[in-house]
Amino acid sequence: MSLTPVLIVGGSLVGLSASVFLAWRGIPHILVEKHSGSSTHPRAMGYTETTLEHCRMVGIADRIPQTPQNFRLRRVKASSLVGEWQGEQAWTPGEADTHNTGLSPNTGAAIAQDKLEPILRMAALEFGADLRYSTELLHFEDRGDSIVVQLRDRNAGRDYAISADYMIATDGADSPIRERLGIAREGVGNIRTVRSVLFKCQEADQYLGLSRDTGKNSP
Ligand SMILES: Cc1cc2nc3c(=O)[nH]c(=O)nc-3n(C[C@H](O)[C@H](O)[C@H](O)COP(=O)(O)OP(=O)(O)OC[C@H]3O[C@@H](n4cnc5c(N)ncnc54)[C@H](O)[C@@H]3O)c2cc1C
Repeated sequence: MSLTPVLIVGGSLVGLSASVFLAWRGIPHILVEKHSGSSTHPRAMGYTETTLEHCRMVGIADRIPQTPQNFRLRRVKASSLVGEWQGEQAWTPGEADTHNTGLSPNTGAAIAQDKLEPILRMAALEFGADLRYSTELLHFEDRGDSIVVQLRDRNAGRDYAISADYMIATDGADSPIRERLGIAREGVGNIRTVRSVLFKCQEADQYLGLSRDTGKNSP
């Protein structure tokens, strides 16, 4: 049975971030992700200055297109794409707008998750991470001083075991690992159902107050 100091389960935004930062610190680890790559859904879009500062620390901030200094992520309610704006609010409702304070060497970033994950993946690999896609965690057993996991290589149709000193569960909000450990979630439950639609239309920039060459808000 092979050994690893750290096993990361889940190769999406959080797992890949953990991998980048561990690898940058020279900590050997294995990341397993049951899918063959990143989800093609754009999902998360906005990242703060602080996130970019962490990326800067490990030397990858300049790979992530950052927003212009006067750019501000916000949510707009409109009757249609070309209709009247019925109001706008901060990206995170109820919180002060902390983007682009001018106090950081970085601005935030507005990049979709399906574009950011490959950047993180490439950095993790460059730093020496062992990323195993199409590899599913089937079972884990806490043996006190180690965790023994059963993995399935979905491509080869082969199961194998690994012993890890630590396991990081980045297997999503519905984490089966968290559930199995009996760690409950609290809160109001299902808040609402949201439908997100991504489309590309350069001609829409003028209606959104964006100038095409810089992406900056036009006056
Ligand atoms: C439609 C949509 C829109 C969103 N928009 C935003 C947004 O605008 N801003 C924002 O901040 N966030 C947004 N989010 C949330 C954001 O996508 C999540 O917060 C983020 O993906 C969480 O990352 P994660 O790595 O924790 O988990 P996930 O992205 O859920 O990834 C978990 C990974 O673990 C893998 N996995 C699970 N079980 C196993 C197993 N047994 N073995 C191996 N691998 C396993 C899964 O395949 C998956 O790749 C959105 C989400 C959705 C669905």
